Amino acid sequence: MTRILIVEDEPQIAAIERDYLHSHGYETHLIERGDEVVAWLKNHSADLMLLDIMLPGMDGLQVCKAVREFSQVPIMMVTARVEEIDRILGLELGADDYLCKPFSPREMVGRVKALLRRSQLKPSASQHGFHLDAERYQVVYQDRNCPLSAVEFALLKLLSDTPGRIYSRSQLIENIYTDHRVVSDRTVDSHIKKLRHKLAAELTDKEIIHSVYGVGYKFEWPDENLINA
Ligand code: CA
Repeated sequence: MTRILIVEDEPQIAAIERDYLHSHGYETHLIERGDEVVAWLKNHSADLMLLDIMLPGMDGLQVCKAVREFSQVPIMMVTARVEEIDRILGLELGADDYLCKPFSPREMVGRVKALLRRSQLKPSASQHGFHLDAERYQVVYQDRNCPLSAVEFALLKLLSDTPGRIYSRSQLIENIYTDHRVVSDRTVDSHIKKLRHKLAAELTDKEIIHSVYGVGYKFEWPDENLINA
């Protein structure tokens, strides 16, 4: 199921977006405040985010920037004014597309589909039937599942959200652990070791978490075509 995160504080617009996306077979989750987005995305996965600009708590531009620090989720900014778009583009926030209010629901769904298609050309873990279930702290692959500890889940979530991106141990510590001072590089290594062990034992013999010598770790799904060639 493809899940779209709607970030919108105007109930009528949120309802239109939700209803049309549902009628086209998408699952949705609504957040009404800008300052709640980062925390939600660190614990849940979304395939695309519709992001309004004028929001309580934190505006959409700041949200976009903050999300790009840890996630490559496709972002479609929703703005009330056409004139704003040039300015937004100039800020290089990392958004993927822009939609102007007022929009027709049909146009919105069309643009969402197009952006999903574009982003799915990039290799991602979910294409391989690999999903993270934040409610149960487990990872699901094909018909198997593997329960993880909270820390292991957070590590896997961070790494798998940006396949190919290399994280140093200190970046992992900053993003994952609440008390940075008591966590050493060895703690990270030991959590990664346990995580790999569980994935290998319960899920797949494919190696998906890779050590990058002298640097840190990255998540990369093996290329099926290369394996089968
Ligand atoms: Ca708004």
